[in-house]
Amino acid sequence: MVNSQYLRDIVEMDDMGHIACDIRMKTSAPGIFADGDIRQHSNRQLGTAVGDGITAALNAYAYLTEAAPYSKPVRST
Ligand SMILES: Cc1cc2nc3c(=O)[nH]c(=O)nc-3n(C[C@H](O)[C@H](O)[C@H](O)COP(=O)(O)OP(=O)(O)OC[C@H]3O[C@@H](n4cnc5c(N)ncnc54)[C@H](O)[C@@H]3O)c2cc1C
Repeated sequence: MVNSQYLRDIVEMDDMGHIACDIRMKTSAPGIFADGDIRQHSNRQLGTAVGDGITAALNAYAYLTEAAPYSKPVRST
């Protein structure tokens, strides 16, 4: 069980407490990001947790500064 119950009424999570987030680590609550072992579908490895953290930090910065491409739809190239 993940220690995330204090967020249960704030962000979407599964029965085990893993928080749902998209590829940008964005949760169901605007401005809240989840990364590493606490998020759904994590590989639960040090390397992936670090990568998640970088992704979350960059997108949190973009969210706070209203910088693109945070709020723009993802387009395939
Ligand atoms: C025994 C063991 C061996 C492992 N071996 C490997 C390995 O060989 N290679 C590998 O890649 N990975 C390994 N892992 C997995 C790796 O440790 C994790 O994937 C990684 O640490 C996840 O990082 P994290 O930041 O998401 O979570 P964590 O490292 O768990 O950090 C979460 C932090 O949040 C704190 N915290 C929790 N709740 C709260 C709260 N309410 N308020 C404030 N702080 C809170 C915790 O105390 C903790 O310090 C191992 C894990 C374990 C348990």
